[in-house]
Amino acid sequence: MIKQLIHNNLLKFSKQCLFVLAILLSFSTLSAEADRTITVSTVAYRNHVLSLKHNSFGDIKFKKRIYNDPARLVFDIFDAKLAQAKTFRYEDITGDIVSVRVAQFEDDTVRIVCEAKNTTSLEKIKIENIGQTLYFKFRVRNVVLQDISFQDGDLRIVADGPMVPRTILLEDPERLVLDLIGAELKSKSQAKKFNNGEEESIRISQFEGSIVRIVFTGEKTHKRDVRISDNEKQVIVMGKEGKDEAREGFAEKLTKLSLNISEAKTSTYAVTGEKRLHYKFLKLHNPERLVIDFIDVEMASSFGSEPLPETSQVSDIRFGKATLGRPVTRVVFDLKGAQIKEEFRENADGSILYIRFNGIGTKSINTGITPINPSKKATVVIDAGHGGYDHGAMYGGHDEKEINLNVAKKVNRYLEQAGVDSYMTRTEDRFVSLAERVEISNTINPKIFVSVHSNAIISNPKMSGLQTYYYSSNGYKLAGVIHKELLGDIKMDDGKIRKANFYVCKHTKAPSILVEMGFMTNKKELKKLASDDYQDELAKSITRGIIAYLEKH
Ligand code: ZN
Repeated sequence: MIKQLIHNNLLKFSKQCLFVLAILLSFSTLSAEADRTITVSTVAYRNHVLSLKHNSFGDIKFKKRIYNDPARLVFDIFDAKLAQAKTFRYEDITGDIVSVRVAQFEDDTVRIVCEAKNTTSLEKIKIENIGQTLYFKFRVRNVVLQDISFQDGDLRIVADGPMVPRTILLEDPERLVLDLIGAELKSKSQAKKFNNGEEESIRISQFEGSIVRIVFTGEKTHKRDVRISDNEKQVIVMGKEGKDEAREGFAEKLTKLSLNISEAKTSTYAVTGEKRLHYKFLKLHNPERLVIDFIDVEMASSFGSEPLPETSQVSDIRFGKATLGRPVTRVVFDLKGAQIKEEFRENADGSILYIRFNGIGTKSINTGITPINPSKKATVVIDAGHGGYDHGAMYGGHDEKEINLNVAKKVNRYLEQAGVDSYMTRTEDRFVSLAERVEISNTINPKIFVSVHSNAIISNPKMSGLQTYYYSSNGYKLAGVIHKELLGDIKMDDGKIRKANFYVCKHTKAPSILVEMGFMTNKKELKKLASDDYQDELAKSITRGIIAYLEKH
């Protein structure tokens, strides 16, 4: 799904007005029932997140304002009462936020006031109502723009975290200003000005410490469309030119993905369409990958139906629909190191794109994972602990949520390669509640449920070892098989198999375990946990354990 920037975010200003932007006003009534009073039962602040638990299943009625001088955000919840007759005040919020206060303002209004050093940092506060909790998420760092590319009239920006875009239209001359709030350029070389033909100029600059400003100047700039991907890490400013014309003569479907040559120093893949292909590509790092987007093209059922073997250059190929607001098929080649270089070639009518990879990969080719016996083929749910504002443990610049997700993704991939149907409770840096995780699993009804976490105990930094937790007796059997596999494969202290009533283990119907992969508070273990190689070893080992269990049950 694609989120198009909503129109109340699109403010139209005359050129003098740009600097009066400090006061932003938004108002929402949505579908709240007027006669129902909301009770806010708990107010809490933890890890840069203010949460207010309430009893409304519907939308809440609120008004949000940002004032200048002193910079503050005032958020009123109407028809609402605080369960406790007191004022909550939190100070020393990281970043430029000075304090947050929650109080009963009038009889029927709960007021939240955030004070800050400047209004920009107030605009970065993300307010979300999930289930029966209202969250105020205070951004603690700027996202860093990893890649800015311009191709076929589209400007594409990729960041290492969710972006907050704001667009402003200006006249005389016509300009589109795109501000990425809470963002910074990765290097000075990203700040530049260039021309898109003669009609349009584009200027990218760091505007204040935490806004990247991109100004499009030219007659057609107001027709540009700003789109943001689902995970909010990608913003595309679409050019309008030629986008609406019929794409006659171009393919509508991709029919085949094949590996034509596989040798020690080179491998060549071919993507075939029924007619000429229209594509764009992007090289991404850490991990290294080549992303090719086939524009206005969908996949035929034959596309990618045969699994392709790993080569010396490519460890995996993934493909699917990209979330860019128009039919786009995205093919991602996971490369075995930065030394792998790609070359593109087309056949005479442009219906086949050949991608040749040269170089020798550094990662081992053999995963040591034996595909599952087809008669034992089963469904598995992999659960990456934490996510979104819930970082889990945080030590030495590493977030538990990220380590967990990296390992879970790898397990998911290895399972798929081995013929096991694998589902993940989250595939990106997103908050998913424990209840949702259980619900996802119980809906999918898998043969087993495996949750991955990383441990921490601040009072005992020497504590080490990999622990496997279970709750029920069938979880115990699963824990036994996987724990044994892990300790056999990986140089890690034995943290033992343990019983605990972790929510996900207790409430999932399938046999379930929770693996604590090591201690982030232990320097040696953290170094391992944070490394891609070790994460890969863990993932392979968990996969082998899962397959061993499935083969027996
Ligand atoms: Zn955890």
